[in-house]
Amino acid sequence: MSTEKPRPLIAGNWKMNGLRASQSVLDGIREGYTAAVAKKVDVLVCPPTTLLHAFAVQAAGSGLYIGAQDCHTKASGAYTGDISAEMIQDSGGQYVILGHSERRQYHGETDALVNEKTVAAHRAGLTAVVCIGETREERESGKAIAVVKSQLKGSVPAGSTAQNLVIAYEPVWAIGTGLTPTVADVAEVHAAIREDLIALVGKDDQYLVRILYGGSVKPSNAAELLGTANVDGALVGGASLVAKDFLAIVAAVA
Ligand code: PEP
Repeated sequence: MSTEKPRPLIAGNWKMNGLRASQSVLDGIREGYTAAVAKKVDVLVCPPTTLLHAFAVQAAGSGLYIGAQDCHTKASGAYTGDISAEMIQDSGGQYVILGHSERRQYHGETDALVNEKTVAAHRAGLTAVVCIGETREERESGKAIAVVKSQLKGSVPAGSTAQNLVIAYEPVWAIGTGLTPTVADVAEVHAAIREDLIALVGKDDQYLVRILYGGSVKPSNAAELLGTANVDGALVGGASLVAKDFLAIVAAVA
């Protein structure tokens, strides 16, 4: 077992938000990501694909990471409207969010597809942020842990490592709702994920894979959530669109 702790990661998921004028938000994030902050925490911004290259250029030299929100399984081909992991890499992206509950819900993505997409991300040299999490009904019927374990097993391919894999636990009912699980519930799910990682990445990397919490993280609740055992950072939706709020969450890591 490694005694090293993973380096915290705060990731912003902009979803389908942001126009070219939003580069001013990235300017604000860049300004607040000082050398002192960068010593303690990695920061990732995932804008819509239209802004990916511009953000990568804008973030160059800052230490900020830029990523995408989805990719296709293939490197190229007749897949109208899709983008490949190789294209993300070519645009300057280093990360890709995969299996977000909005992709699972609105695009019918299954664990098997997320697994294939994660393989594609690794093929292109990207780090995959694989999202898993239960629905409200699953939590209320006591199935949250079983659902998360099953999604984890199905979505993470062989060959994953602490370098190319991040897990984001995002209860579906907490995303964009202002609701969050209790700290005890977050700790229970993250511990279960940590336990199962041994079978997926081996014992050397089990404790080094970053497990993020996502779902209504904001400046007011960030310190408590980020202080929870096995929470190595956050995946932030709404609050990542405002530099001041996102930076306040980043500051809560310290
Ligand atoms: C998300 O979409 O990944 C998310 C966590 O959204 P929010 O922070 O807005 O709940």
